[in-house]
Amino acid sequence: MNDAKRISLATEIDRSSLNELDYLLCRNVEVYCANEEDVQGNTQHEGNCENVVVGQVGLRCIHCSLSPFATAKYATLFPMSIIHIGADLRMMAKWHFSRCSMSPSKLRKEMERVLSVIETKDRREERYDSMRSLNDFCSSVVAKRFNL
Ligand SMILES: [Zn+2]
Repeated sequence: MNDAKRISLATEIDRSSLNELDYLLCRNVEVYCANEEDVQGNTQHEGNCENVVVGQVGLRCIHCSLSPFATAKYATLFPMSIIHIGADLRMMAKWHFSRCSMSPSKLRKEMERVLSVIETKDRREERYDSMRSLNDFCSSVVAKRFNL
């Protein structure tokens, strides 16, 4: 696996289509294909990796996914389908980036801040659905960009 092939979910031009949290998430998560190792060694991943097949699309933290020293859970997730990408990303925001020791501390703080803003908003405003823009983004831009 080489660095040249690593592509984040979002690029700078996507900033306007996403809220602060989702943009931050998409910039720090990459798409990749499961290889033989993932399928065989999936016990080391936490989360939904039981039925991973070679070639399946996964999401992973760009900071720690290739590091042997990474310990934070949810560094790699395999969304069941495109419509699940958004929810999986949010899961990483909550459970991974807060604990990922390989991420810059500035990013961790920023992620925590924007996550609490979004969660408060989601709770307070009944009709506000912060997931909508993220799901739209995933099913259109991400799906096209990565040929999903
Ligand atoms: Zn990480």
